[in-house]
Amino acid sequence: MTKIHRRFADRVAGFVRDWSLPRQIAGESPYSKAAESSLSQNLRPRLTEADKVGTIICPYCAVGCSQLAYAKNGRIIHVEGDPRSPINQGTLCPKGSATFGWLTSERRLDHVLYRAPYGEHWERRPLAWAMDRIAWLVKQTRDETFVDELPDGTLVNHTLAMASLGGATLDNEENYLIKKLFCGGLGMVWIENQARV
Ligand code: SF4
Repeated sequence: MTKIHRRFADRVAGFVRDWSLPRQIAGESPYSKAAESSLSQNLRPRLTEADKVGTIICPYCAVGCSQLAYAKNGRIIHVEGDPRSPINQGTLCPKGSATFGWLTSERRLDHVLYRAPYGEHWERRPLAWAMDRIAWLVKQTRDETFVDELPDGTLVNHTLAMASLGGATLDNEENYLIKKLFCGGLGMVWIENQARV
């Protein structure tokens, strides 16, 4: 028997061995392990390795589906929908199902990248530097564009040079503070949230 014939015979033998119908005809119960193959017998759920599980909220959209995050030795190994949630009842859409991938991707950015005006290259900067720069630009823009009253004397106390678009997973308290700071404190008018988009 040639090598090709032997390989073909092995394939046929494996197929007959793993195919449930001949085993059921031979008397094996269709309700027990009849559908198991030699491959599936050796498979183990990956969650058996987890030593911790926690709940998180999908950050992608305003639905706010609940997720279970499984970890091993402090590293996330799996994310799935939380069946206890009345919102998603254990399900996730394709974006939410990709949570594990973007959490653990080697290409995920975990530092600040800055490209100067008219610059052609991204520069790595400290987070504190970025926060200071944002605060400085906000103050500068407000100082340059703040309007006390309109030409007809109407008191407005606003700036139309800045706007805010909040994320869908901001909670009520965070949105309340954003509204207070941006409207009452800075005089911004355009405040929007992605949950309404
Ligand atoms: S799983 Fe999908 S529907 Fe649910 S919050 Fe995430 S993106 Fe929205």
